[in-house]
Amino acid sequence: MSSFRARDLERVASAVAAAESLLFITGAGISAPSGIPTYRGIGGLYNDADPEEGLSIEEALSGEMLRRRPEITWRYIHQIEKASRGKTFNRGHELIALAEQRCSRVWVLTQNVDGFHKKAGSRNVIDIHGDIHELRCTGCDGCSTVDDYRELAPLPMCSSCGEVVRPEVVLFGELLPFEKVELMRKELKRGFDVVFSVGTTSVFPYIMEPVVDAGRRGKLTVEINPGRTTLSDDVDVRLAEGAVTALEDGLSRLLL
Ligand SMILES: [Zn+2]
Repeated sequence: MSSFRARDLERVASAVAAAESLLFITGAGISAPSGIPTYRGIGGLYNDADPEEGLSIEEALSGEMLRRRPEITWRYIHQIEKASRGKTFNRGHELIALAEQRCSRVWVLTQNVDGFHKKAGSRNVIDIHGDIHELRCTGCDGCSTVDDYRELAPLPMCSSCGEVVRPEVVLFGELLPFEKVELMRKELKRGFDVVFSVGTTSVFPYIMEPVVDAGRRGKLTVEINPGRTTLSDDVDVRLAEGAVTALEDGLSRLLL
């Protein structure tokens, strides 16, 4: 262990132990050890254009395509789900859930649509891009939850009203869900003593802003990501490594 890393971790661990509130902002990097591909797309889960249709992924996975030709959008959604099928949360998600039991106020703001934070036991989760396991009818708004998509038709239709069913995820060209944005605003306004950015390249303004805001308030900001990101120069501590080890060490004193 380099002395720099030891010093940085000491700073993180002592701030976390003294903190009354923690925010974890997470992206694809935290689910990578679970075997979830870190592609771009909704929740960072898709990467390919469709050679048959000549469509970009932004077009195929858009709200507009879902309305016009839902069978195309659903073909991609099925592929995304298949890539995460049978996979589950890892030690990184578990550590964040444990932190919630030891610190009075802990929130998770995640870009991921895999639902792993909730499965690992975190209760205060804002899954800003949704959860692929939650479905909603575009006709009657009826909601349901599925473990995996094997039971679904290629183009799932509502059994009550016959309209197309969709996953509760934010497609390209769609707005972020209002209630989640409001909840995020409310919690950010209260502020957090330590803010972690874990496994995300922070390309979205609403993912960057909480870190920038915490810095402005003089709170400790920590980035955990193997590669450099748009935030790397702005954080107090940068741990250029995988999520699990860094969280294990950074939260060590809280989780003793
Ligand atoms: Zn319906």
